[in-house]
Amino acid sequence: MKITGIKSAMIQGVPWTWTLVKVETDEGICGIGEAQLPIGVRDILRNIEKLLVGEDPRHPVRLAQKIYRGLIGAGSTGGSIVLALSGVELALWDLHGKITGLPLWQLLGGKYRDRVRIYADTARPGDHSPAAYADGVRQRVEAGYTVVKVDIDNSAPGEYRKDHHNRALSRAEVEYMSAVSHAAYEALPADVELCLDMHWCYQPTDALRVARRLEDIDILWLEDPTPPENLDALKYVTDHTSVPIACGENHWMSHGLRPMIEDRAADIITPDIPRFGGVQEGKKVAELCELHSLAFAPHNICTPVGTVASAHVCANAPNFLALEHHGLDCPWWDDIALDWGGPVVDRGYIIVPDRPGIGVELNEELLRAHLVPGEVWWD
Ligand SMILES: [Mg+2]
Repeated sequence: MKITGIKSAMIQGVPWTWTLVKVETDEGICGIGEAQLPIGVRDILRNIEKLLVGEDPRHPVRLAQKIYRGLIGAGSTGGSIVLALSGVELALWDLHGKITGLPLWQLLGGKYRDRVRIYADTARPGDHSPAAYADGVRQRVEAGYTVVKVDIDNSAPGEYRKDHHNRALSRAEVEYMSAVSHAAYEALPADVELCLDMHWCYQPTDALRVARRLEDIDILWLEDPTPPENLDALKYVTDHTSVPIACGENHWMSHGLRPMIEDRAADIITPDIPRFGGVQEGKKVAELCELHSLAFAPHNICTPVGTVASAHVCANAPNFLALEHHGLDCPWWDDIALDWGGPVVDRGYIIVPDRPGIGVELNEELLRAHLVPGEVWWD
């Protein structure tokens, strides 16, 4: 069997644009993957196709290395090259599963759990009030989730912000972030966990002012308090608060996360598998975290393709904590997967499928209806 081509389809999702990737073969079997962001991916896929056409597809790990090394001069240590690489790597694993008849979790060495705990991202309410945050998390609990996340950065009314460029917080903003965090926490039943996201906005001493205001509530994590390019700043926050700090969605490949893990600059590591390097890189990071006694909780904003691929890796990781779901505001998200037998994310969990490969059969009719304007199906 030989690889004959690589195709992509850009889907206008809610609120994201989703990029599906297909690896085709001369025997008609194909693998489906997903690259987490569309930026520049189409052009890069054309270059990856040149590297993979004619290759035997049964070697996803080696072929991903061929892409990484083949495009290193174009910047394959990070950025859009890795986005595209991730989408192809997921498709190669899906293809490998279809060739062998085995589900991805089995190709990875088995699983620790049959169902993967999903956490619900919760959009910022239009209303700035702490009560609106409390209502938002209550709705996620009613939908069955046992972990919810809310965004507390840049949510305060505009007059609270003194300067939009210096990464500093005003006293009013710190007070506001504390108020919405406490309101969300107090709205949750005792068996539901709360995560708070700061989207890498702040300098470490001000991020720490917020973290210290959260030390009296038992949150699962505070995410991305500082900009991703400075591990020392992140570690400063982590080392000076009892609040667990999560980070990792803006780092690339296992190489990019290795110093964060080895230096214990965060407590919970959050790579985005269909963005940061793919399935094998996800498994490597989970194992490195396990060696350092750190938790593994992947970021995710994908369709069911990237989400279920991530769920296979999570099922395989002993130190897995929770996997993100950021598609709750897309009314047709679950319908992307045909014949699933119910919602893909059901009451806060994904049952890891036993079908070959990733195990998501695409609803082509639905996806064709949501193509980005001007795009064609599998270009
Ligand atoms: Mg985040």
